[in-house]
Amino acid sequence: MTKPTPRNTHQAKKRFGQNFLVDGNIINRIIRAINPQAGEHLVEIGPGLGALTNHLVDKNCQLDVVEIDRDLAQKLEAQYKDSPRFKLHLIDALKADFGALASTDQPLRIIGNLPYNISTPLLFRLLTFKSCISDMHFMLQKEVVDRLASPEGRKTYGRLSVMVQYHCHVEPLFVVPPSAFNPAPKVESAIVRLRPRSRTTTVTDPGFFAQLVNACFQQRRKTLRNGLKLVLKELPADCLQNIDLGRRPETFSVEEFIDLANQLSAFR
Ligand code: SAM
Repeated sequence: MTKPTPRNTHQAKKRFGQNFLVDGNIINRIIRAINPQAGEHLVEIGPGLGALTNHLVDKNCQLDVVEIDRDLAQKLEAQYKDSPRFKLHLIDALKADFGALASTDQPLRIIGNLPYNISTPLLFRLLTFKSCISDMHFMLQKEVVDRLASPEGRKTYGRLSVMVQYHCHVEPLFVVPPSAFNPAPKVESAIVRLRPRSRTTTVTDPGFFAQLVNACFQQRRKTLRNGLKLVLKELPADCLQNIDLGRRPETFSVEEFIDLANQLSAFR
C-alpha cells in the first residue's frame, strides 16, 4: 500500500534545487516508466518529501536514498522507519560511492528528480559507476534531455551528448510542465531513461577521449583542427584516415569521435 504523503510544511531551499513534484498523474507516469520489480535494488537521488519514494518503498525492493538536506532526511527517516529495506544516506550525491552501494550481485537502478544545478556533474559521476548500474531514470530540464539525446549536426549536440551517448542508450520519455511542481520551476522538464551500453568499438584511452571531446566543443564554431590543437602539441601530418579536420566538431558522430580519439591517442 502507498504511504500517505506528509503535509508539506517544508520551506523549499533554492540552493538544493528543491522543486517538489505534486502532480499525481505525472508521479504515476514516472513510476510506470520505471516499473520497479520485487527484488531489484533501487537508488533514489534527492527523495525530497517522498513524492516518488512513496511509490517505491513498498515494491519489495532494496531502496537506498541519497539526500543532502538534513531537515528532509529527518522527515524521511521518520516516515519510513517501518520499512526494513529502506536506507537513507545523508550525503552529497556528488560524493556518494555508488559502487559501494552495489555490494550485492544485483545491479543498481538509479532514479531521481534531479536538482538542476548539479545534474551535469552528477551524470558524469554516475557514468564512472556504469558497470554496476542497469538503468537510470531522471527528471531533468528539458533542454538538458534534448542535449543528451541529440544526434550530431544539431545545435543541441555537444560534449554532453557525445560523452553520455558513448556510455549509454538515451531514451527521452515525456515532457513535464512547470505546473507539476511546487514551487514551479521557470522551465519545462523531461523524463529520460539511460541504459549503460557496451560498444563493439571502444576508446583505448578514456581519459584522452574525454579531453579531446571537451576541447573540440570548447570552440564549436571552429574546425576540428582548432580543437585538436588544445590537446595535442603537434598535429601529426597524414596520420588520420578518413577524417576531414576542416569539419566542425558538431558534425562528428559519436563513432567518429571514438575513431578520432583512437587514431590520435598515440600522438598525445
Ligand atoms: N524527489 C523529490 C520530488 O520529486 O518531489 C524532490 C526533488 S527536488 C527537485 C531535488 C532533491 O534533491 C531535493 O530533495 C534536494 O534536497 C536534493 N538534493 C539537492 N542537491 C543534492 C545533492 N548534492 N545530493 C543529494 N541530494 C540533493
